[in-house]
Amino acid sequence: MSIGSEIYTLIGEICSCGPRWMGTPGATHAINYIGDAFRSKGMEVRLEKFQYLSYRQEVRLEVEGRAVRCEPIALAASTKVPLTAPLVWGGQCAPKELKDLVSQGRSIEDAIVISDNLRTFLAYPNVEDAGGAGFISVTGFQDGIIRCGSARLDRRPGAIPGLSISGREGDAILERLRSGCRLVATMELKGQIEQTEGVNVVVSQPGPRRGKILITAHYDSFWNGVHAMDNASGVATVIALSRLLAKHDGPSIEYVFFGAEELGLFGSHGYVEAHSDKLEEIIAVINFDNFGSSASQLEVGVTEELFEVSKEVAEKHEIQVHYWSCPPRAASDHHCFVQKGVPAVWFANGGSDLHYHTPLDVPEKMDPDRLEQVAIFAHALVRELSR
Ligand SMILES: [Zn+2]
Repeated sequence: MSIGSEIYTLIGEICSCGPRWMGTPGATHAINYIGDAFRSKGMEVRLEKFQYLSYRQEVRLEVEGRAVRCEPIALAASTKVPLTAPLVWGGQCAPKELKDLVSQGRSIEDAIVISDNLRTFLAYPNVEDAGGAGFISVTGFQDGIIRCGSARLDRRPGAIPGLSISGREGDAILERLRSGCRLVATMELKGQIEQTEGVNVVVSQPGPRRGKILITAHYDSFWNGVHAMDNASGVATVIALSRLLAKHDGPSIEYVFFGAEELGLFGSHGYVEAHSDKLEEIIAVINFDNFGSSASQLEVGVTEELFEVSKEVAEKHEIQVHYWSCPPRAASDHHCFVQKGVPAVWFANGGSDLHYHTPLDVPEKMDPDRLEQVAIFAHALVRELSR
């Protein structure tokens, strides 16, 4: 079987138990599945604990008295009593956009700000900072699909309630606001945010040379689908790579599968905290998150130190890649390492397939050829970094 077909098969198996939201049977299935994949090769598997905020909400939204389907934004605040407030269109909700609204006489304080920024973790904190009373994120499609998102990446619970709605509902609301209608919405989020213990799955492969290469992917997903691209593809690729690297004799390799990434990078943050005295040993973090569907382009986020070597490897294997530099893009587990000065590479799709975080992210849309390309690229990169 080709590597691409193998990864494709693994993705189907990882997705077979439903969503992998932290604390659900699907997440436990993923942890056991990863453990079995390594134990069956005679490798020792460690479960390293970390703390995260678990999140469960019952939600309700009404616009002008009519119920609108919605999903909570992870880590957004609960409402003690239902919040009723006027809706204000905030666009992307960049700080300047929000300031301009205020200077045009639109009050944001005591308003529910509605946004079409797909990166909720950027828009929500801006609305919170600007004093908004609530936040609604519009999914970027014309139909009834709702995208999930998280409120922030700094592991703090949000201060205001937040919901996601479909593009169809969002467009209808925007049209009415544009035509001058004054709309009032009621949001209710009933639930809890609790300190909880999660695990990262860690497998060490000692090598004869100094240093360590981390090969990583998050195993959790949002609750609203099986999320093949985000991130069963990453988990499957790391497992497949471990088989390709079974006889590797360079520096040590550590395969790390993080939990609670979607909630805001809790697992990788926990790893960095727990191993803070050994981060200097790490030659590179090679992180896989959100790639490999037939609609996606390969995009690679890379820190300065690893840019040249990544480019050489891609050229040698004639792989078409679009690069961006890390930082600033922070939306995956490599971020916690980059902040500590550890070189990192992130294999992603950079938003070229917008089905991530929706129920449309299914195994059937994954492409064995694209998956294979990523595996070949990463394998060659590990070998190059081991010379
Ligand atoms: Zn992801």
